[in-house]
Amino acid sequence: MVENKDVKNLLFYERKNVWKEISEDQVTAINQFSDGYKEFLNQCKTERECVKYIHNLCLSKENSFISLKSAYKNKQQLHPGDKLYYIENNKAMILITIGKEGLSQGIKIIGSHIDAPRLDLKPLPIFEDTELGFLKTHYYGGIRKYQWVTIPLAIHGIIYKNDGSEVEITIGENDTDPVFVIPDLLPHLAAEQNKLPLKEAIPGESLNLLMGSVPNIDTEVSDKVKATILQLLNNKYGITEKDFINAEIEVVPALKARDVGIDKSFVGAYGHDDRVCAYTSLMAFYESSNTINDKTCYCYFSDKEEIGSNGNTGAQCDTITYVTELISELLDISEIKEKQHHNIKNILRESVMLSADVTAAFDPNHKAVFEANNSAYVNRGIAICKYTGSGGKGGASDANAEFVNSITKLFDQSDDIVWQIAELGKIDVGGGGTIAKFAAQIGINVLDAGVPLLSMHAPYELASKADIYMTYKAFKAFYENL
Ligand code: MN
Ligand code: MN
Repeated sequence: MVENKDVKNLLFYERKNVWKEISEDQVTAINQFSDGYKEFLNQCKTERECVKYIHNLCLSKENSFISLKSAYKNKQQLHPGDKLYYIENNKAMILITIGKEGLSQGIKIIGSHIDAPRLDLKPLPIFEDTELGFLKTHYYGGIRKYQWVTIPLAIHGIIYKNDGSEVEITIGENDTDPVFVIPDLLPHLAAEQNKLPLKEAIPGESLNLLMGSVPNIDTEVSDKVKATILQLLNNKYGITEKDFINAEIEVVPALKARDVGIDKSFVGAYGHDDRVCAYTSLMAFYESSNTINDKTCYCYFSDKEEIGSNGNTGAQCDTITYVTELISELLDISEIKEKQHHNIKNILRESVMLSADVTAAFDPNHKAVFEANNSAYVNRGIAICKYTGSGGKGGASDANAEFVNSITKLFDQSDDIVWQIAELGKIDVGGGGTIAKFAAQIGINVLDAGVPLLSMHAPYELASKADIYMTYKAFKAFYENL
């Protein structure tokens, strides 16, 4: 029988506040870690930029990572401790360390996504109306459209010219660059618009970026502002209107990651979802990659999560299976001789994964959509979600209790990890999904875990520095101690 005085400590579950649990040293570590993270965010506003950053990191240090594709082509033998990388169409990526046991014991995977909600340019974006030049956009992922008007926006992407050459475009990030803005109605004339539901107030087809207004009066064409815009683009990049067809150009907030709050306890930035989990898992993987694990480890960065993980860079593509097959074939000609290298289905069923994605943090200004007992809270550490989905767990990968137990045990065993359990909001209010179910479909034991956010999917999202750091610590424990 638990004594009355111990009831609170021994029987009740209570979330811990990171700031109340940690030492001075850890406060410094938290701040340093988020400084590195802000740098990453400022350099990586698209999935392609994330892949480039991670690729450079792979190549930068001694004893660097080698390309799995070229290792496979050269029929290279693999050894425990070998580090490899695989890039899928420049937009998704897997980092790999080979474990002592090869693949026979399964793989330890952390998988995040590096795409984020944004506005994409349409294939033919440029038009002129009333002597104003605009770029038409097609929004990508679950944005709240009213949040994207009247804020400074930047353009990032690539265009292929007819000769096959690639042009990289970034406008709006340097202080001397122009930025772009989608105008909105003035309140004086918004009486009718104000009556509309938020969802309808800004129609998708009105998300047009103001691009210019100076007419080229020396041209024959009637669209003289469009002429100026195309000439400026042609002078700088050598591109024509038709080249926009062969392009992926993303419109993102022209805002830098910054500290938020008088105590600087938050990072405000575009793209926390899900670059916060990409960065924390990358750092955890990278720092543990010099210790040889029993198991082979992957750090997976997927694309297209915000539009359902479709496409050949999304998590519904067989990237994990394919990489495992290539490694398995190489292990068969290597010294790590294990019987089960070649049975990919067995390997995947032995594998474990954290689906590293953000969740909603309880927002006291919008209490009605949260269920207080089962919400994630800011500063209470990495949030694990047994399931996501909507309308009665619809579309969820509901993790097995056995696997949840192995993860909560792991976190509890390392004293300084603060974690919490969470659901994403009230039942029947909404919901969401992650890449977890696509890993589960190929037999992997998978659990969602990540940083709770305020204003998720907004142009400027908020994450607690304490939670970012705890997520990194938890991912490190997963790689090193599970
Ligand atoms: Mn996400
Ligand atoms: Mn999302």
